Amino acid sequence: MAKNPSRIVIVGGGFGGVSCALALASRCSPNLAITLISDKPHLEYTAALYRVVAGRSPLEVCIPLRDIIGDLPIECVRDTAASIDPAKRTIQCTSGSAYSYDYAVLGLGSKIAYFGIPGMQEYSFNLKSISAAIRLQRHLHEMFEQTAARNDDRDDDARRMRMVIVGAGASGVELAGELASYLRILSEKHHVSKDFVDVDLIEASPRILPPFPATVARRVEQRLKELGVNIYANRTMVREELQEVILKGMTIKTETVVWTAGVKAHDLYALIPGIETDKKGRVVVDEYLRAKGADHLFIVGDGAATKYSGMAQTAIHDGMVAAENIIRSINGAALAVYHPKQPYYALPVGPRWAAAIVGPVHVYGYGGWILRRIADLRYFLNVLPVTKAFRVFREGRSICEVCDVCSPQPPP
Ligand SMILES: Cc1cc2nc3c(=O)[nH]c(=O)nc-3n(C[C@H](O)[C@H](O)[C@H](O)COP(=O)(O)OP(=O)(O)OC[C@H]3O[C@@H](n4cnc5c(N)ncnc54)[C@H](O)[C@@H]3O)c2cc1C
Repeated sequence: MAKNPSRIVIVGGGFGGVSCALALASRCSPNLAITLISDKPHLEYTAALYRVVAGRSPLEVCIPLRDIIGDLPIECVRDTAASIDPAKRTIQCTSGSAYSYDYAVLGLGSKIAYFGIPGMQEYSFNLKSISAAIRLQRHLHEMFEQTAARNDDRDDDARRMRMVIVGAGASGVELAGELASYLRILSEKHHVSKDFVDVDLIEASPRILPPFPATVARRVEQRLKELGVNIYANRTMVREELQEVILKGMTIKTETVVWTAGVKAHDLYALIPGIETDKKGRVVVDEYLRAKGADHLFIVGDGAATKYSGMAQTAIHDGMVAAENIIRSINGAALAVYHPKQPYYALPVGPRWAAAIVGPVHVYGYGGWILRRIADLRYFLNVLPVTKAFRVFREGRSICEVCDVCSPQPPP
């Protein structure tokens, strides 16, 4: 008699979930019934989000799950998981549907953490999703339109536009570098003097890029300064108000604050009965990447308390390990021990310049930028057919502006 296929339910169509689904589907086994549940119809390629703010096409960031899955034996469901019961092995979704599983994999990503700083959530922008990036892009153009339309009789300080980025980790640095160049272009197009536009990068630690080696931080700081970014280290956030931001020992008048300083685990993990979470809300996993206390539940990506969690590369690695261990478990074989994989970094800072850190090798400038673009293309080629991968990659060069001044409508 034919065996019933093992039901594997993956929740989250991001880096970890997609990597796991593809690794399982590559086995071409009729004994696997793979379901991928995600609340979005696409994967967000977050590494390129900063470019969307600076007028590049969001199509590079938005990769449809149907293009990734193609003809593979993966059932893709658009739904939102609301609760997980490891004892009954069921996942309840907000649509009312419930999914029973033999093995489940959760890759829900992370959420923004504001650490209770007053006003931050209400007034700040962020860079956590495509919609957030487009919202910030629109706001920048509106600021330029308003400034250009104003009478010039106000004093210089009142006309000053300060773009304040809070958090000089990798995302904040990428954004600061890109904005410094992009805002110069907007100044020209909107006929606003570039002397009235500032990019301020704020960091609570004594230096930028706290987790990176000090030599890298110094080179990147030098590059940011060349681009005209003002760096304020050792400044903790006190609060944000509608038109100003208050830091330790300093107040900046601004209508543009971008928060890139913190993330926390997805709230759903804390609601799963019988599993453990750490101080950051991430799930404590065993040596095989299973949630401690739930043998049939694997956790991948930002939600797993692993050494390099918080990186797309880690989520991809996790997805492959979870897939391997599910197959081994089904076959009654010994599970593979999870070894965290040291990520490499390729940090773009302004046009055609990046700091690439691959183990002990550091490459700065155009060479780093090429390595970064190779990493982007490599990911697209891993998840998409070749022609679609190149199409998405090329989108990174397309301009997609949001205001009539920068992208005038053709006459009717
Ligand atoms: C601006 C920015 C730049 C970054 N740059 C880099 C970089 O250059 N290199 C790098 O390695 N990492 C980078 N990262 C980090 C990287 O994006 C994350 O580590 C990675 O996305 C984590 O993968 P994940 O699979 O855990 O979650 P995600 O990729 O976030 O995927 C989670 C998925 O789950 C879905 N989901 C959430 N809740 C539910 C639910 N209840 N039901 C159904 N679906 C749900 C989400 O919509 C999403 O599709 C960057 C992050 C940001 C914000």
